[in-house]
Amino acid sequence: MNRLRSINHKALKTGELLVREGMARQEDVDAALDVQLKEGDAEIPSPASSYSINRSDDIPEGIGIRTIGEILCSLDLVSPIDLNRVLLKYGKRLKLGGMLKKMGIISDAQIRTALESQQFNFKSLGQILIEQEFITEKQLYDALSRQHNLQYKRVDGFEYAESNKAELIQIIGHNYADENSIIPLTLEGNKLTLAVYSPENMLSVHELKNVYAYLRIECVLIPQDRFKELFKELYGVTHSHPLETRTHIPTASDIQEKKPETPSIEDEEEPDVPSDEDMEAFIQYLLKYGITKNADSIHIEQIGEGAAIRYRIGGNLKGLDVPGLGEKLPRLIRDLIHKLKEKAGLDDSDHENPQSGLVRIRFFNRETNKQAEVGFRISVLPTSSGDIVTLTAQTPSASIPSIDDQDHSVHTKTALKRLLEASTGIILISGSEKSGKEQTLFASIKHLYGPDRKILMASESEQPEIAGVIQARVNQDHLTYEQLLRAFLDHDPDVIVVDTIKDMGTARAVVTAAGSGQLILCGIDAEDAVDAMWKLMAFGVERESIAQRVNGIISQQRVRRVCPSCRKAYTPEPEEWNVLFDSFPARLAFHKGAGCTTCGLIGYAGHTILSEVLIIDGEISQALRTQAEQTVIRQIAMASGNKTLVDDGLLKLKQTTLDEIVRAVPFKMIVAYKTAKKSGKTGNDRSEVSYETIKKEWILSSSHSEEARILEMYQDLKLFRNEDRGLDPDEKNIFYDFISETFHQVCRDYKCRRVLFCMESHPGDLSFWAAPVFVKRHG
Ligand SMILES: [Zn+2]
Repeated sequence: MNRLRSINHKALKTGELLVREGMARQEDVDAALDVQLKEGDAEIPSPASSYSINRSDDIPEGIGIRTIGEILCSLDLVSPIDLNRVLLKYGKRLKLGGMLKKMGIISDAQIRTALESQQFNFKSLGQILIEQEFITEKQLYDALSRQHNLQYKRVDGFEYAESNKAELIQIIGHNYADENSIIPLTLEGNKLTLAVYSPENMLSVHELKNVYAYLRIECVLIPQDRFKELFKELYGVTHSHPLETRTHIPTASDIQEKKPETPSIEDEEEPDVPSDEDMEAFIQYLLKYGITKNADSIHIEQIGEGAAIRYRIGGNLKGLDVPGLGEKLPRLIRDLIHKLKEKAGLDDSDHENPQSGLVRIRFFNRETNKQAEVGFRISVLPTSSGDIVTLTAQTPSASIPSIDDQDHSVHTKTALKRLLEASTGIILISGSEKSGKEQTLFASIKHLYGPDRKILMASESEQPEIAGVIQARVNQDHLTYEQLLRAFLDHDPDVIVVDTIKDMGTARAVVTAAGSGQLILCGIDAEDAVDAMWKLMAFGVERESIAQRVNGIISQQRVRRVCPSCRKAYTPEPEEWNVLFDSFPARLAFHKGAGCTTCGLIGYAGHTILSEVLIIDGEISQALRTQAEQTVIRQIAMASGNKTLVDDGLLKLKQTTLDEIVRAVPFKMIVAYKTAKKSGKTGNDRSEVSYETIKKEWILSSSHSEEARILEMYQDLKLFRNEDRGLDPDEKNIFYDFISETFHQVCRDYKCRRVLFCMESHPGDLSFWAAPVFVKRHG
């Protein structure tokens, strides 16, 4: 009786969790409990097919009473996928070693041997047990299958029906499948069967359940070799999961072995304290993973007792997907951070102040076939639970995009290039911290560089090397911006670059240097262009100096880009549009992402930029001199027809959302925008004048003789789409073929010899149509 009570107690806990998670109803759990009680009374031996999932330290060996979770699954009241997720979430799953032992396959001693050789490496315990011939692959998968409540199948006879492939690919795209190591097997009616080879990937199954709520999703475990074969068969390419590409990354054999203290079953899979070499290899792995995944940044965080390593890829944060790492990490995190700080030459005893530095790694770049060195800027922030670390990959000089390659709108690019033609004065490049203003600063430097110009740059942190630019670093204790800029003047530069103006000394030094006839480019943290002027004033720069010395200010903010794969036009709710408009702006077309597997269901993929350029001349200089308030300057800027961040956002409504614009743009500007609209004082009234339909027409008489004109049409199309005129050869050819085909089709259908092509740009939308042109016969 005692035993039963203890079983019930444990089982009830899983039931409670399932109810709490909304996976099961209380009455279902009660029903399952009844079943369990009956099974217990009858002392039914465990059926061969039943799984034991719960941590069952106090359940005597050999008693196979089914858990509440299993019963709920067998009654079809809870899906194995949901059950698995809940057990994982609450750490209620029996570990692999324990499961194999429970199944009578291996002994404690064998587990210990395996754990000893596992040490700190990326091989799973299962892999090692197979290598040491303690278990067979089949036994491993049987255990994994019971552990995760997943059916194991070899699916040897399975083949995709050619006719089903397209549908399956539509449900799970190649990228998602590759990224999450999951493939669809069959779709029968509304039943979708998926396959994984590592139960870790069950979590993405849950994610999919939310997207495809109308489908009944089941998942089976298949061996890795079969997974690879099927992946290739379905998608036509090889599965490139990082776990497989790890051959060039240090593995256990590369890492020096170290005798562990004998681990017990309880702390199985717990690594010994890793050696210095292990940690070095681990860091290499983390950074290389970031590089191969094109991550913007790597986040290493201690959160309470736990720890996490996450990568920002295409704007979204993703965890590092290494089996077993989640459990090891909390014990490794301190050593990891310690080693990173050591590599960057930071003070590890300092747990009070934020620190930053540089970590470099060398790696073999497969694209260029060359050894490359990549620098990561490391920022360490002490918190109550320990240091948190952010690593940001530095852009190598060769890949600094030019102004044309950036995501700025054409009007920004044109204005920026015009500003850069000046030979004296100050150009401020402003934005908030994550706005990407550094990229614009570097692109501007690249734009300016030529054999006839000497460019000197002062910066606080390590910057990517740009050919031809002489860089010097300030040092808080010995060398200030002021001293450095004064020294620069002795070297007779044409252009001086200051990475960021952060204090009075720097601001004054910049203004003074600007008086001696150089062009000065500076970064500054500010919400928008007007805010940048007020930042300068806060640093003690006189209004008169701003009016006189600052030529112009470019300001930018980063917004998320609507996922192109699931973008849809929609009509926003009043609470969405009334932040910016008093009445619904019917002329604008709004878009958002519905969420798909490409964007990980977020609806956004990657980023784009909103920017504005404010030229300080005429009225604005005048207003600065007359002590005008910030609001007045904003109104003048708007009335003079400058496109503000809001304007730029509304022009990019196909690329980003209203929500993102409102989030990225400073509130003051939104207020100014609404006021200006109300008073009708805008130079380019956003929804009425500048967004009016623009139309352009061409008449072609023969597609072959008019290649040059088609090219022109293509370039105009790019302008209409608010892109740069630059040529994309592939796209151009597609466009050429499209026009050519359309031309012939219209000529055939209407028996005409000339065709009118018309491009119309509506607010946020673009239409392109063709019509026959009939020439009146004379005489
Ligand atoms: Zn999407």
